[in-house]
Amino acid sequence: MKKLESLDLNQIKVEDNFWDRYIRLVREKMLPYQWEVLNDRVSDAAPSHCVENFRIAAGVSEGEYYGQVFQDSDVAKWIEAVSYSLEKERDPQLEEEVDSIVDLFEKAQKSDGYMDTYFIIKDPDGKWSNLREGHELYVAGHMIEAAAAYYRATGKEKFLKIVCRLADCICDVFGEEEGKMHGCPGHPEIELALVKLYRITQKKEYLQMAKYFLDLRGNQHPDHFVEEQKREGFYHIFQEFEHLGYNNIQAHMPVRQQKKADGHAVRALYLYSAMADVGYESKDETLLKACRTLFQNIVKKQMFITGSVGSAADGECFTCDYDLPNNYNYSETCASVALAMFSYRMFQIEQDGAYMDIVERALYNTVLSGMSLNGTEFFYVNPLEVIPEQLRTNRTLRHVLTHRRKWLGVACCPPNIARTLTGLGNYIYSYNEDTVFINLYISGQAAVTLAEGEIKISVETNYPYEEKIRIYVENINDIPMAIAFREPGWAKIDTVVSDDGEILRVRREKGYIYTEKRKWGKEGSISFDIPLKPVLMCAHPRVVSDVGKAAIMRGPVVYCLEEIDNGDNLGGIVLDAEARLKVEYDPELLGGAGVITTESYRLSEQEWSGKLYQPVGKKYEECKIKAIPYCMWNNRGEGEMRVWIHTR
Ligand SMILES: [Zn+2]
Repeated sequence: MKKLESLDLNQIKVEDNFWDRYIRLVREKMLPYQWEVLNDRVSDAAPSHCVENFRIAAGVSEGEYYGQVFQDSDVAKWIEAVSYSLEKERDPQLEEEVDSIVDLFEKAQKSDGYMDTYFIIKDPDGKWSNLREGHELYVAGHMIEAAAAYYRATGKEKFLKIVCRLADCICDVFGEEEGKMHGCPGHPEIELALVKLYRITQKKEYLQMAKYFLDLRGNQHPDHFVEEQKREGFYHIFQEFEHLGYNNIQAHMPVRQQKKADGHAVRALYLYSAMADVGYESKDETLLKACRTLFQNIVKKQMFITGSVGSAADGECFTCDYDLPNNYNYSETCASVALAMFSYRMFQIEQDGAYMDIVERALYNTVLSGMSLNGTEFFYVNPLEVIPEQLRTNRTLRHVLTHRRKWLGVACCPPNIARTLTGLGNYIYSYNEDTVFINLYISGQAAVTLAEGEIKISVETNYPYEEKIRIYVENINDIPMAIAFREPGWAKIDTVVSDDGEILRVRREKGYIYTEKRKWGKEGSISFDIPLKPVLMCAHPRVVSDVGKAAIMRGPVVYCLEEIDNGDNLGGIVLDAEARLKVEYDPELLGGAGVITTESYRLSEQEWSGKLYQPVGKKYEECKIKAIPYCMWNNRGEGEMRVWIHTR
């Protein structure tokens, strides 16, 4: 089956009560702020040195390399985010900034196409010598993604040509042939990028190179990762990761044999995304089958309710099934971005709404919780339960922060959020030759060019706070076409009504509702409700961290308790399993937020004076609780937070 296509971002306009502020924040604050950080002009943020590294590599400045081995990828992700924004609306100042750095790339690039400032400046003889930790192919991947996006947005070819030379260099260095290096990278990313480049240039070598890296992984004897360490002059870039196993670099088994998501969560999900891309492009059913199995394992056994993954900080990795701790989990923001990337690819290939449900869950919860509502502070780790004093005193929890930071030494997450939000339109609509798919309920308009002419779609809703969805269709050319819209796995859409009140005949298939193919006319419309009753969710009995607890969800949004609304010791709050949850919208709170309140109980602390333990005999006091969307937590100062609430 042919996969669905995405619209160009300039064909999409988002005008949505929930999302607008985030998109505006990225455009107006985050992107300019990140540019200042990348240029080391923000005095109270961690230094980046990213642009300066390129200036040194280009020979226009002198100095030492500074930063992580993969520092170059920060500016690449920034360019990618800027490009999605430019695709919607050109901006001469932003383009000037990008063009200035592209000029530096060109100067820094070596004659064979190689480009990585760490090795160019710090260790010119060491290039390609440490594939496990060197991150050159990872950085190259982000450069390619950035160039592809910038080319699509502006039509300017300079950056695209630079990354084609880089990709050609990679194709010259790696491969099965005699005399080439037989290795693959410790951090996947190049694979999905090469597929993107293949789709633009139609150059088959890029697709073959991506497939080569996938095929080799976990399948090599003798293993390149072992062999490279025997070389004279080899040194570890990351001593602290030496104890981690082969699963951390996705080399523990051949990709087609993987059945359980394992190892570093971001690496795993970038790899699975590439497996989906290559599987589709090269019609390799064995790769797609592995993707399906891995997706099922993640969402049924290893995903937090907030759409995050990565249970352990050491290795930033998946652990075993049902191991989902709430206060020392990792749940990196990037991993949720990657989960959305992988799930969306699978949706486009399989047209199954179950994949989109996960995209939605990741976006509405962890991707957004990664940034503050002022757009300049970021979480890397996204816990589901926080007691600030514990974090300050217990070193085992040191990876969990009490508040978002301005910029992080390892700054993968902020630009990853930026590129996801500026590219949000990509997720909202898809289409094939005769059907337009509405995947996310976000207000706005889209123009879809089908084979026979253009169709305009607009969506009106106040989702995820109100149930009504209205879709207008303007079909001037009278092209017979169907609309398909997602029926989330957690909801049942009752009736779909046309503009004249007629109940439409629809077909349900794999989580989507399809209208009949019809001409719609100039002003067609359909409307329906998505039930958004708040629900108390519980976890599988094997998730020991959540036994006897419930989490509040309304639609795709997970709610949490914060100390500022509920007092401290949120762990002492005990909810009735039958509690009546009351929904409100508070326009004053956090710039407008959904609120869920209910009557509840709190374990009494009377009769506990001077005691730590006593015989069982619970005493409760009545109280009221107030929950807000998890994605908005920690925007009113430091305090306790909790998603999973004890129940009785
Ligand atoms: Zn990250």
